[in-house]
Amino acid sequence: MNNYVEGATGPWEVVIGLEVHAQVISQSKLFSGAATAFGAEANSQVSLVDAGLPGMLPVINEMAVEQAVRSGLGLNAKINNYSVFDRKNYFYADLPQGYQISQYLQPIVGEGIVSVDLADGSSRDIGVERLHLEQDAGKSIHDRHPTKTYVDLNRSGVALMEIVSKPDMRSAEEAGAYVRKVRAILRYLGTCDGNMEEGSMRADVNVSVRRPGDDLGTRAEIKNVNSIRFMQQAIAYETTRQIDILEEGGSIDQETRLFDAQTGTTRPMRSKEEAHDYRYFPDPDLLPLEFSHEFVDRIRATLPELPDTKKQRYMDELGLSAHDAGVLVSERDTAAFYEQVATGRDAKVAANWVQGEFFAQLSKLERDIADSPVSAGQLGGLIDLIADNTISGKIAKDVLEIMFESGQDAAAIVEEKGLKQVSDSGAIEGEIDTIIAANPDKVAEFQSGKEKMIGWFVGQVMQATKGKANPQLVNQLLRDKLKP
Ligand code: ADP
Ligand code: MG
Repeated sequence: MNNYVEGATGPWEVVIGLEVHAQVISQSKLFSGAATAFGAEANSQVSLVDAGLPGMLPVINEMAVEQAVRSGLGLNAKINNYSVFDRKNYFYADLPQGYQISQYLQPIVGEGIVSVDLADGSSRDIGVERLHLEQDAGKSIHDRHPTKTYVDLNRSGVALMEIVSKPDMRSAEEAGAYVRKVRAILRYLGTCDGNMEEGSMRADVNVSVRRPGDDLGTRAEIKNVNSIRFMQQAIAYETTRQIDILEEGGSIDQETRLFDAQTGTTRPMRSKEEAHDYRYFPDPDLLPLEFSHEFVDRIRATLPELPDTKKQRYMDELGLSAHDAGVLVSERDTAAFYEQVATGRDAKVAANWVQGEFFAQLSKLERDIADSPVSAGQLGGLIDLIADNTISGKIAKDVLEIMFESGQDAAAIVEEKGLKQVSDSGAIEGEIDTIIAANPDKVAEFQSGKEKMIGWFVGQVMQATKGKANPQLVNQLLRDKLKP
């Protein structure tokens, strides 16, 4: 299957490559001991190194190195035991050093592969070109004062991993799926919290178009996109813009563009002619980064089960469908919650409840699974009540709703509200006799072969018992009594 876009003059293929910037989870910065917590007062987390004062020396944070290696392993990538930090030189008010320490020709992590899951249930492998460590810059704030710009250096020096993909994506859907998957992997690994609103993850989006089979076209790079939805809007806009230009006989400028969330469009920021020459050179303050195979093996031994492996296991061992398994492993918290519910219970029933009614209630409250008012143990308790026939599945949905409102256990609610399923055939038979006696016409209809009438009778009995009668029992008793 292809994703060609039909232009006025024939089909076009969209090509996308992403540079994902992921903030490393670490207490301190890449080359200083200053704190990294989000939301601190401006300029309260700045060491002399981060402020770029003369004579200060950067000292590598070993934790950040471990996190990069861990991420590389999770991305099925080659780990480079020898890598080099370079200075990327440019001037900006929020970059007091006058350069950013990054990695250029010799990154810490080389080529890898990310398998992305698409809506139609298929998967595709997207290549990773490299992952390197670099410092973040500070933040310029232009909207607090009519004539002044403020600078907050809290982010200055924070460790980022830049994960550069190959130009392997062919649609906005694939690009979205790639970012979701990379984010899930990093969250499973505990190397980046993936919080795009707080800026812990953002992407530069490279887009070009070409005729199917042609070489790569000239790309535009859309900087610093901070949500998957914006990224997909930017890709859609760029696709149309570039195709229109090419179909009118024009050519694409290789340029950097900005996405405007207000209008859903992109506009030029700088072109290649004005492009920076960063004059990269190895940072003389830092030795090359070298570590042993043992260091890598030690990290490898602590990797958790990652989403792809977990998904396969859910399918093979628990008998879940690819779709259900995919939904449940998509976030580490969801998978952990599900596994707790499924332990000692029917795995498929647990899967249905977690991603069905439970998710529905959660999204009604606009809550994450991490702050769900109903715990995995409580949901499990509800499922147990269905399994042992204390309540029907239908009543259980109502009970879950009350659990979300009150935080009570299922058993307590069932007891308090008298929701126990009636499995006493005497009580049910009484109701059935009354209904049969009052509706001779309906009985005749059933007996003349209108099999569907059984549903009407079941409905009547359930109504009379406020939904508490055991549906299987009702069915069986009705059939006995309606026999001509
Ligand atoms: P730079 O460092 O100048 O941004 P790179 O060659 O490192 O250039 O590429 C950056 C990103 O652009 C990568 O993710 C890559 O996959 C992507 N890319 C390169 N060429 C194209 C293209 N023609 N169309 C779309 N994406 C591209
Ligand atoms: Mg780039």
